[in-house]
Amino acid sequence: MLTAREKFIKKDKRKAKGVNMATTIALPKCTSCGRPIAPSMRATSFRCPNCGEAVIWRCEKCRKQGNRYVCPKCGFEGP
Ligand SMILES: [Zn+2]
Ligand SMILES: [Zn+2]
Repeated sequence: MLTAREKFIKKDKRKAKGVNMATTIALPKCTSCGRPIAPSMRATSFRCPNCGEAVIWRCEKCRKQGNRYVCPKCGFEGP
């Protein structure tokens, strides 16, 4: 027979799984290379300096290499 504590742990595990699934779906993509950005990566995000509406994401690699990005809203190109 399960104690109240064991029941609680089981419920908690199910909850954590659901949260993980949600984060993989909501992963942002690097605007330069299009790769999904993991929360552990040292990526940066900022608003487009031209239109200020679109959020630009850049992964660590693209920042180091200075790859260009194109704003998906206004087409602005920037380093
Ligand atoms: Zn990238
Ligand atoms: Zn823009």
